[in-house]
Amino acid sequence: MAAPESSPSLKVFNTLTQRKESLDPLRPGEVRLYVCGPTVYSYVHLGNARTFTAFDVVVRYLRYRGYRVTYVRNLTDVDDRIIQAAQASHEEPRLLADRFVQAFDEDVRALGLLEPDVAPRVTDNMPEILALVQKLLDAGAAYASDGDVFFAVSAWPGYAKLSHRNVEELRAGEGGVAGERKRDSLDFALWKAEKPGEPAWDAPWGRGRPGWHIECSAMAVKFLGQPFDIHGGGLDLIFPHHDNEIAQSEASAKAPLAKVWMHTGFLEMENAKMSKSLGNVVRLRDALARVDAEALRLFFLSSHYRNPLVFSEAALTEAERRLEYFYETLQRVDERLALREVQMAATLGDSGRFLRAFERSMDDDFNAAEGQAALHALFTEMNLLLDRPPVTDRDRVACTLAELRAEVRPFGQVLGIFQQSPARWLEWRRDRLVERRGLDRARIEALIAERAAARKARDWARADALRDALATLGVELRDSAAGTAWKVRDEP
Ligand code: AMP
Ligand code: ZN
Repeated sequence: MAAPESSPSLKVFNTLTQRKESLDPLRPGEVRLYVCGPTVYSYVHLGNARTFTAFDVVVRYLRYRGYRVTYVRNLTDVDDRIIQAAQASHEEPRLLADRFVQAFDEDVRALGLLEPDVAPRVTDNMPEILALVQKLLDAGAAYASDGDVFFAVSAWPGYAKLSHRNVEELRAGEGGVAGERKRDSLDFALWKAEKPGEPAWDAPWGRGRPGWHIECSAMAVKFLGQPFDIHGGGLDLIFPHHDNEIAQSEASAKAPLAKVWMHTGFLEMENAKMSKSLGNVVRLRDALARVDAEALRLFFLSSHYRNPLVFSEAALTEAERRLEYFYETLQRVDERLALREVQMAATLGDSGRFLRAFERSMDDDFNAAEGQAALHALFTEMNLLLDRPPVTDRDRVACTLAELRAEVRPFGQVLGIFQQSPARWLEWRRDRLVERRGLDRARIEALIAERAAARKARDWARADALRDALATLGVELRDSAAGTAWKVRDEP
């Protein structure tokens, strides 16, 4: 697809304006996106993974639409929580962060997330952070106080415009009293003075480390310029993190930081956000030991990215069953297509209609949940054709099936699924169910061989009895020209 100048049909909900807007990139054909990445003091949990998967699909869809996308997702490797965790494990904060950066990379790769174009670490970008703090000091938008540096909220009129909060109410909420070091209770730290035993960097106003918000302002602008197109993160980051980023960047450059602000809803557990502080987290790596990565992606994408999504084991199981149905269908389609001797060139019917429905959903603020309905419709259609004996109009059916099969690929590319061969995926799932149910594989295979012999000898009664015996074990058979395939029913 040619790179579009702008896509009036592609609408994105902008937290800043509270409206869906046409995506109109600042540079034609190019989208620059910054997403706040993980704080690497522990393993990522499914809540984090939901947010990163949502943006993964945004990037995939924009690329599918023909945009050149520059995707930056940072790694926060200086933070109070990292220092606390390092103290608890008697480790250097830098080494603890290294460990969790590596774990994060492994986990999100296993989930099939695309690598960002840049994954900057705070500790590698100190010069830019220092320069931004200096610029704010020079502009009178920040002040040093006992080695700390604070942003002066009163010096910048647009504060809290992203969260649409009232500054006076916020101030009253803070008790309205400035601390000893702060001039205003709303002022926030750009720099924190060095404390014994904590990592610190030299700075003209005194050794210390950056506050949280300044890093994203500095790294986003370093790698994407200012303004850039889309800034994203979870809902919890709107205030204060993103409002503070806007304040810092706009006060220093007198230009907007980002045009569109996108925020994902929470992954919840029984009405509470999944978060480390609540102690109700499921680690991504633990989930991936139980459920297939593509099934997990289907689960994450089963609710619009801005809506909450409720976690349950049952929902994961359900997603994996759906994926099994998809892969089984693909296997059957591929078997059927392989039977054809002549490849028909003619196109019949309304080719591409499922994909167009999917694009309409994705164009509407990346509604992958609705887009999955088109995916299901496509598979229902393929199953209808598979179940119809191809005798009356053999070539016509085969040709249509080939067209439908070709529509599957873009769905897979955008949603990050169907990256395995059906045979391999189904075998993997079967092996896991065999293990989980404690089944005896050798015995199953012996019974199947015995049934094949009975069929060959035309002993149908014996063959049926063997099929029933296998069914009692939870084993289902499927006979095709290629032989007999078997699977384990996923039931307790
Ligand atoms: P953190 O490592 O806590 O800074 O979080 C990394 C990203 O995950 C941020 O964009 C958060 O907003 C997001 N996040 C954290 N918890 C959840 C959750 N339960 N559901 C969805 N996103 C979350
Ligand atoms: Zn950030």
